Amino acid sequence: MEEKPMVRLLVAETEVDAGFYKAALEGNGIPVFVSGMAGSAFGAALDGPDEIEIIVYQKDLEASRLIIAELDAEPDEEIPAWNCMCGVEVDEGFGVCWSCGGEYDAGANSHNSDNSPD
Ligand SMILES: [Zn+2]
Repeated sequence: MEEKPMVRLLVAETEVDAGFYKAALEGNGIPVFVSGMAGSAFGAALDGPDEIEIIVYQKDLEASRLIIAELDAEPDEEIPAWNCMCGVEVDEGFGVCWSCGGEYDAGANSHNSDNSPD
């Protein structure tokens, strides 16, 4: 019997995450095997660790990593420096305010008012 080498791409924390990765990879034409989920071929062999492994063929590993990296990356657009509604300026590239934790909102990023503090 010939078996193509398979490798673990990553470990997902939840079935939701696993399903998300699986769908993204399969959407790119990469066969994905998930272990640790009920009903999977690998599930029965797993005894103990409550983790879900995303497994791909070795030949697909590199492409898979790129896809996952894109998934994990922040949105496509670069985030410019922006003024948070709490009043601080957040450096470019950060999607969350360092001061109040507010999220960057592209629609609210207008610099049309100049309320320079006195
Ligand atoms: Zn803020």
